[in-house]
Amino acid sequence: MLKYLSLPTGKKKEFAELSLKELDIRLPLRAGITLKKTGNMKNTMPGRNSFFKLLGIDKSRIYSCCQTHSKRVLDIENGSPKKYSSFKADGLITENMDAVLTVTVADCLPLFIIDRTKSVFGILHSGWKGTGIILNAISIFRSKYNCRPEDLQVIIGPGIGSCCYEVEKARYESFRSQFGSQSVKMAGKRFYLDLKNANICLLLEAGIDHIAVVRDCTFCNQDFASFRRDGPVNYIHMLAFIGNIHAYTTGTSAHDTTTTGRTGTNPTYDTPEA
Ligand SMILES: [Zn+2]
Repeated sequence: MLKYLSLPTGKKKEFAELSLKELDIRLPLRAGITLKKTGNMKNTMPGRNSFFKLLGIDKSRIYSCCQTHSKRVLDIENGSPKKYSSFKADGLITENMDAVLTVTVADCLPLFIIDRTKSVFGILHSGWKGTGIILNAISIFRSKYNCRPEDLQVIIGPGIGSCCYEVEKARYESFRSQFGSQSVKMAGKRFYLDLKNANICLLLEAGIDHIAVVRDCTFCNQDFASFRRDGPVNYIHMLAFIGNIHAYTTGTSAHDTTTTGRTGTNPTYDTPEA
């Protein structure tokens, strides 16, 4: 069951909410990503605190890590967010339902993973260097929490699409040899990566087929921040987050889904929230 979503980013919205309703998720979790206009969500930026205030989330619940484009995933057990924020890693997993897990992105993919039967969930930052981090996360879900692949549900968030992610031939060839022909694209004599397809292939091979993919390309869609489009000096970080969050009301849900694959159903999402 592979579904595609689009994220409406309405003028008054601070962030786009990823609706979890079409996945079979029983946990009271909500997930989303901030928009470019929300401001820079880098760890050190004051806008980040303002955003969490808006969501009504206390700082003591917010976990992040020191992202390095690695494939390392932290299992959050006991310990303060401050302790984990200095660890070099690009993913977080927890069974602590008080924790709100976050990563920052700007073209790289945010990946959200949720078990449908246990209270375990995670978030990852996955760009071209980190592609494959999803397998390390799945390994922790399986070994530490005894999760079954068929119970894991994954949302592939907005990131740079194969429409815009042009690379050198060498990187194209390396990616294709690692992740298969679906993970790359050629147009004329130009070479492109398809990060979303690369992750879909990895997930299907790992036995996970409950996958929702956000269509939006962060380079094409000006509502999102893009490292490639905005440049190394001007780009900002968007914040992707998942957790048990009740207080916020300003998000907007994904809509316009189409389904491909085995179920043959054609679900629709609720209309965006007010
Ligand atoms: Zn694009």
